[in-house]
Amino acid sequence: MKLDVNVLRYLSKDDFRVLTAVEMGMRNHELVPAELVERIASLKHGGTYKVLKNLLKYKLLHHDSSRYDGFRLTYLGYDFLAIKTMVNRGVFSAVGRQIGVGKESDIFEVAQEDGTVLAMKLHRLGRTSFRAVKSKRDYLRHRSSYNWLYLSRLAALKEFAFMKALEEHEFPVPKAIDCNRHCVIMSLVQGYPLVQVKQLQNPETVFEKILGIVVRLAEHGLIHCDFNEFNIMIDDEEDITMIDFPQMVSVSHRNAQMYFDRDVECIFKFFRKRFNMTFQEDKGDSDETEEVDAADDSGRLSFSEIAKSAGALDKELEASGFTRKEQNDLDKFIENGLEKGEDSGNEESEDEEEQTSESNEENLSGFNSFQEKNSNNHVVDDDNHEKGQSGGSEDEDESDEEEEGIELAKRLNKQRRRAMAAVRGGRRNSSRNSYKDKGGRSSQNSKIQKRLKDW
Ligand code: ADP
Ligand code: MG
Repeated sequence: MKLDVNVLRYLSKDDFRVLTAVEMGMRNHELVPAELVERIASLKHGGTYKVLKNLLKYKLLHHDSSRYDGFRLTYLGYDFLAIKTMVNRGVFSAVGRQIGVGKESDIFEVAQEDGTVLAMKLHRLGRTSFRAVKSKRDYLRHRSSYNWLYLSRLAALKEFAFMKALEEHEFPVPKAIDCNRHCVIMSLVQGYPLVQVKQLQNPETVFEKILGIVVRLAEHGLIHCDFNEFNIMIDDEEDITMIDFPQMVSVSHRNAQMYFDRDVECIFKFFRKRFNMTFQEDKGDSDETEEVDAADDSGRLSFSEIAKSAGALDKELEASGFTRKEQNDLDKFIENGLEKGEDSGNEESEDEEEQTSESNEENLSGFNSFQEKNSNNHVVDDDNHEKGQSGGSEDEDESDEEEEGIELAKRLNKQRRRAMAAVRGGRRNSSRNSYKDKGGRSSQNSKIQKRLKDW
């Protein structure tokens, strides 16, 4: 799916009002019947059906009449709602080119009025089409889309909260700027993903910097869980920025040691392979387990030692953004994936490398500005709108979400597992802002009216 933001400029207030009405309807409906859209949108001069047709034409909505007649948002529709909200808030005023494609996200440049360029990450959980998932997804077809939106929103929320907290503790991460729906706005990293770098001036120094981050994270109570050459950016000064946080866990997680070791192993493996670095444990053929244990005893990089004195950033974060249910929903598929994920080769990671290879070319032309159209819009308070995106009927949806979560988990963690599978031999001896999300339908009507008023 292509994000053609030009369309945004042709959308009227009524178009957005109807799009928002469909989003609201999706809290309680997989497919929102046209009558309900009409009722929620309550356009002054009518014409909801015509607007629906227009939105369908631009692929912002999907029409489904297989079970009953109704509409649902597409990812593109969801993108537009998030982008529009951000533009109205004054976060940015133009969308530029795509600079990254992750398996579960698309990254674009966006520009502010003063020319500052930022990065916009649109989370797309469930987008990938791994074979193993396909049949399951077909089976879940009629109800899956709505959960993809929900899970993508949670991933964005978590990423934003973690990025902010990490920045406050002076970790080298992009600056978290804003978050809405499945969209996170952050500073643009001036650098390249490490995977694209063939040569370094000081590979040892870079290696140490990177491992130092893993250790410091653990000291703060956190494990990245996807710490590899795709999620480490490096600039011309060989300074490091880490990105991609939706899968981070606390050091008190039951698999914490394994995740920590795996993050460390990925770094070792990459530096060994790419920069021909050799490490102490590469030399000699002494029994590996013994060596690792000895390393622990000698006080070198040891998870148990680090975790013992861990700070409480993990606890802070737990308390910051999510409701308990949201946290469980997201954790569920992350953990399920780790337990049941599939192993395979590294090809798809290589694809990712190809696709992101243009990331750092300077090309700031081609921004699509919305300023003209949106300059008079007032700021939309969007904090409320997403309540209950998980569905008004949470109980009945829970098992569905669980089921889908298993599949989502597999995909989310596939890249990690591939890295794991490729690494043999343990190596561990070397070196939110407050989102009020209370759900609840009682006050929904007034919120709907408030939000619609703002469009
Ligand atoms: P995913 O979760 O899908 O892996 P990432 O956050 O890792 O998404 O981003 C995918 C790619 O987009 C990265 O490898 C990088 O090339 C690019 N990217 C992401 N965030 C930024 C940023 N803040 N600045 C510059 N490039 C970025
Ligand atoms: Mg990534």
